[in-house]
Amino acid sequence: MDIDALIARYDRRVPRYTSYPTAPHFSAAIGAETAAGWLGALPETAALSLYLHVPFCQTLCRFCGCHTSAVNTEAPLVSYAATLRAEIALVAAKIGKPLTVRQIHWGGGTPSILPATEIIAIMATIGDHFRLAADAEIAIEIDPRRLPRDRLDALRAIGVTRASLGVQDFAADVQKTIGRQQSFAETAACAEALRGIGARSINLDLVYGLPYQTADGLRATLRDALTIVPERIAVFGYAHVPWMQRHQALIPEASLPDARARYLLRDIAESEIAARGYLAVGLDHFAKPEDGLARAAAEGRLRRNFQGYTDDGADALIGFGASAISSLPQGYVQNASSVPAYRAAVAAGRLATLRGVALSADDRLRRAAIEQVMCAMTLDLPGHLAAHGGGPGDLDDARPALDELAALGLIEWDGERLAVPARARPFLRAVAAAFDRYLEPDAARHAKAI
Ligand code: SF4
Repeated sequence: MDIDALIARYDRRVPRYTSYPTAPHFSAAIGAETAAGWLGALPETAALSLYLHVPFCQTLCRFCGCHTSAVNTEAPLVSYAATLRAEIALVAAKIGKPLTVRQIHWGGGTPSILPATEIIAIMATIGDHFRLAADAEIAIEIDPRRLPRDRLDALRAIGVTRASLGVQDFAADVQKTIGRQQSFAETAACAEALRGIGARSINLDLVYGLPYQTADGLRATLRDALTIVPERIAVFGYAHVPWMQRHQALIPEASLPDARARYLLRDIAESEIAARGYLAVGLDHFAKPEDGLARAAAEGRLRRNFQGYTDDGADALIGFGASAISSLPQGYVQNASSVPAYRAAVAAGRLATLRGVALSADDRLRRAAIEQVMCAMTLDLPGHLAAHGGGPGDLDDARPALDELAALGLIEWDGERLAVPARARPFLRAVAAAFDRYLEPDAARHAKAI
């Protein structure tokens, strides 16, 4: 592969495909009434994954692309937690029967910013309205710089099994520029404390493509991070979109690695992590061979959702909180993004749904193809069409893009089965995009493919 030519051709802005259709294609035509109908139609046997979005942090990191804002008083957090509890009760009433929950994921923002008593109260509300599976996974995103003893005790009380720690890069220049000073020592101590309260699985989030990031600095970060021996590691590409995330404008453009440097940084991360015995999972995750994510990938059970990759096997994902998205059998629904609008809807006894999309037969066919590519890196086209009710030729519009990807070595054909070779993993989103009927090439809202 001529890497420079591939970068020139494929380092475009494409979706991350945590859903299909992607969120920009949701519309206000799908609102609270539709969402209520979809929730009520969930069968008794449906297993759920719940996502709790907490859009607050103590300080904002300049590189962050999350929907979050800074707070330094407790009142808005207590009020938000009360709204979350009310929304859980409201959604449960629309469902109308106590369904089984297999996974709860607390994300944000910094979910552990909520007062300890509120964390425990929210979990109790979930227990009042849902049946928590005995082996349910309780996962939470953690800012290792700020996890006081009372929050740790709260996480123990709610039975956290997996914790995801933000690391990014330990290099001083990088940390100064992204506005996030975090030592290796406090990160390692946080991981140890979380293991001490029962978290069986620790995930570290690293980022490549950060300002002033160098190959040597990333290697040093990896060397230190791997001594924590996390069960999983995610290596995300920094998405510089200051026209959407205005605080990113504080990062000088000149400090950012170019596309080739980004590719090499990603490659360094992948080879260093693989050399320590981790298996690559999908686009940007790595897991120990015995970890559930690696096993799911090996057994063809890996799924893609808004949190990245999952092995939860849930039939539906219900998102709570401002901007949270639910994935239901009929389609996607998203809550109001602004906290006041979200709070007002719930206070009025209404679902906070603002927009969504109902899946057409064509959407389902393409969604499954894209998920299969993003998870398994392979797709048997005739088998896929047969399994998902497609007719011959239904995905033929993808052929020109697939032919070009094949000519450049980014996919390989075995009859009518395509496979993405491991060396082409950085281009996985470009392969998935071949099946995207809504694709707007180079739309400014998406991150670069590499
Ligand atoms: S990176 Fe984490 S701690 Fe920093 S602003 Fe984003 S969500 Fe908050």
